[in-house]
Amino acid sequence: MLAQRTTLFKSSGTAAASDAAKAVAASGKEIIDLTAGEIWSHTAPSVREGAIAAINSDINRYTDTLGLMELRHALAQKISTETAQSWSADEIAVTTGAKQALFNAAMILVNPGDEVLIPDPYWTTFPAQIVIAGGAPVFIETRHSHFVPRLADVAAAVTRKTKAIVINTPNNPTGAVYDRDTLADMAQLAIDRELWIIFDECYGTFAHAPHVHHPILTLAPRARERTLIVNSFSKSLALTGWRIGYLAGPKAVISAVKALQSHTTSNPNVIAQHALLHHLESGDSSFQLQLQRHVGDARALGLSILAALRSVPQPAAQGGFYFYLDLSEMQRRAKINGRELNADNVVSALLMDAGVATVSGTAFGDRAGVRLSYGIDLESLDKGLRRLTATLNTWN
Ligand code: PLP
Repeated sequence: MLAQRTTLFKSSGTAAASDAAKAVAASGKEIIDLTAGEIWSHTAPSVREGAIAAINSDINRYTDTLGLMELRHALAQKISTETAQSWSADEIAVTTGAKQALFNAAMILVNPGDEVLIPDPYWTTFPAQIVIAGGAPVFIETRHSHFVPRLADVAAAVTRKTKAIVINTPNNPTGAVYDRDTLADMAQLAIDRELWIIFDECYGTFAHAPHVHHPILTLAPRARERTLIVNSFSKSLALTGWRIGYLAGPKAVISAVKALQSHTTSNPNVIAQHALLHHLESGDSSFQLQLQRHVGDARALGLSILAALRSVPQPAAQGGFYFYLDLSEMQRRAKINGRELNADNVVSALLMDAGVATVSGTAFGDRAGVRLSYGIDLESLDKGLRRLTATLNTWN
């Protein structure tokens, strides 16, 4: 008999979508996979060199649970620049990707029964981790406000049990980039109502002009004592498989993370730590810029193809590398014709009819959305989106 806890969560919806795509591909059908939460790219030369040098130096031992002190210093420097505040190494924990940073945050902040506010649609792992920690996710609808939470809705959701709010900008899956006023207002609300802010800026390097990513502390320095910054190099340097990220926050949180992490994973992979340290010390931002250009090109190509969609509005795609299609109008028309059209059916039909794998909004708590990743090579993207557009247009 498994623990009752195992009934509280299931494997992530994005992983399930990718598995479904692989299963159909295994049957011989050509599938263009737009499910991935990662960018098609080679590895940054500075990261590669750092890793190879570490291996050649026979580095193979545990490091401090929270990561190499030099790396924590380098990250403190990075965060100081980004937030325009001074950060020190003892406010940083190096983690096995942002996912572990978020898991640590949930385990350290949430008591059984505590509520955590999460804008909806949401990245699937946010509520899953809160539930694992014994808390209750409370969703804030954003569909009617261009996927940016309205302050009044957030304020109305706060109760005596509310412990924290998760803010993810640029947002997965919606591609929304939160504006200055929204972030400043949410930070002020958190201060007034004594809430923690879990600020996930994993897609922060992909805000597409004229949109700008604002680290929340640049707008609300006074929120620092209640803010946990979560970030990683999975997206910004296309290092998903290396599993390296960080959590930055008050020292008391970081020492609790040290205790927790010492019983879970210990330090993040030592070679990945050295590779990242070498990259940060090199000060070479050319690879990151190249990646941003690639994503920008893919976005422009994608938007030009999706412009031909007849019953689906052009996705905003302000940040990150996802197009989030809004099926509301298609659903409304289907209903008039006596048909029920939900996002899961659309995703299955796209897979079978167009040979394009996408992720249903139901994985993100939304019945009217479909997420398409444009982190893939341009040729496949072009082919996949043309097929998808043609197929969706035949349904009108
Ligand atoms: N946060 C968000 C919003 C994400 O979309 C993801 C991955 O898709 C993560 C965190 C986790 O990133 P990592 O691979 O660094 O664990």
